[in-house]
Amino acid sequence: MKLQEFHAKTLLSRAGLPVPPWSVASTPGETDESAAAFLDGGADAVVIKAQVLVGGRGKAGGVKLVSSRGDARAAATAILGMDIKGITVRRVLVAPGAEIVRELYLATVLDRSHQRILLMGSAVGGVEIEKLAQDDPDAIVSIHAHPHLGLLPHQARRMAFALGLADHLKEAVAICMGLHQVMVDNDADLVEINPLAIVREAGPDGPVERLALLDAKITLDDSALARHPDLEAMRDLAEEDPVDVAARAAGLNFIRLDGEIGCMVNGAGLAMTTMDLVKRAGGEPAHFLDIGGGARAEKVAEAMRLILRDRSVKAILVNIFGGIARGDEVAHGLIEARTSQERNVPMVVRIVGTNADLAADILAGSDIVSAGSLDEAVERVVTLAREVQA
Ligand code: GDP
Ligand code: MN
Repeated sequence: MKLQEFHAKTLLSRAGLPVPPWSVASTPGETDESAAAFLDGGADAVVIKAQVLVGGRGKAGGVKLVSSRGDARAAATAILGMDIKGITVRRVLVAPGAEIVRELYLATVLDRSHQRILLMGSAVGGVEIEKLAQDDPDAIVSIHAHPHLGLLPHQARRMAFALGLADHLKEAVAICMGLHQVMVDNDADLVEINPLAIVREAGPDGPVERLALLDAKITLDDSALARHPDLEAMRDLAEEDPVDVAARAAGLNFIRLDGEIGCMVNGAGLAMTTMDLVKRAGGEPAHFLDIGGGARAEKVAEAMRLILRDRSVKAILVNIFGGIARGDEVAHGLIEARTSQERNVPMVVRIVGTNADLAADILAGSDIVSAGSLDEAVERVVTLAREVQA
């Protein structure tokens, strides 16, 4: 799950890291008021930033630096409602505009291949890290945290020196340690600050320079969200794929893929096997879908509705191994879904195990194809999908 910038900044600022103050606005009027508060408080400028769960907002025109209330209102008018990579901007973040001396990149990311948290930094900030990794991989400094001891202070110091932050050593170390802590505390798989900036501010004896986290991106491990009800509340349903939202609400394990064959299976292992067999027979699965053990008719019907929402699905394969799940329940669900569906897609069903004979009786009166074996079912569904496509 991705967090919006303002949510990410909430977690970072709670961890004591130097995030400039901000407010969130959803109308030009609110933006005007927030901007006024920062400008009256002594800021020379304010930055207005689109809050959408995609990167590259700056390039898309979704980040504007202005120096008056009127310009803040105009910037909000331009940004709110803007389309950035297919997402409509509904909110902006308003913050005092920083005077940037230098932009850097700093992140902690879950490095699955090393089974460790990786601290990544670059003195070249503000640019996309993927592009940097390609063009100038040596510009990226990588340090693995210890799996049990965590990120050690000497590692954080090494990063700080590598980024040329000797003049800001204490702050830089605290930020490295803080990112790692936020990562662990929230079960995140990415905490990315781009840019981390050296900013210039007015001090009592003239200008001072310090570090500030100007942008923040956090993604959380979905499987750990049950441990974090407060983070679950930060979920932005409006920006998630509606199919994912519906699947989660129904308790279905659904992952969209690129193929044309819908697969409804009970059990993750059987679902993987089914996908392999579909591919071997020359088809491409449209998704991974595990309806779980003991699925009732209503859940089966809901799963079928999800499958049918995907217009690229040309044929459906239902593969149920009845253990706790009862074949007749599944068959009832399929018939129910069949009668209410708006799109007629050929379906091949293979049900074995508990009450398979009852299931066969129920399906006999329908236009659903029953297959005796899994191999036969796969062959038939691939053929049917080809016929529909032709
Ligand atoms: P992104 O494009 O979605 O990554 O959004 P960012 O928050 O990273 O903003 C993009 C760029 O806008 C940054 O790299 C900065 O150069 C600039 N920017 C963002 N906030 C400020 C600010 O407070 N002051 C100044 N001067 N520039 C900013
Ligand atoms: Mn950024």
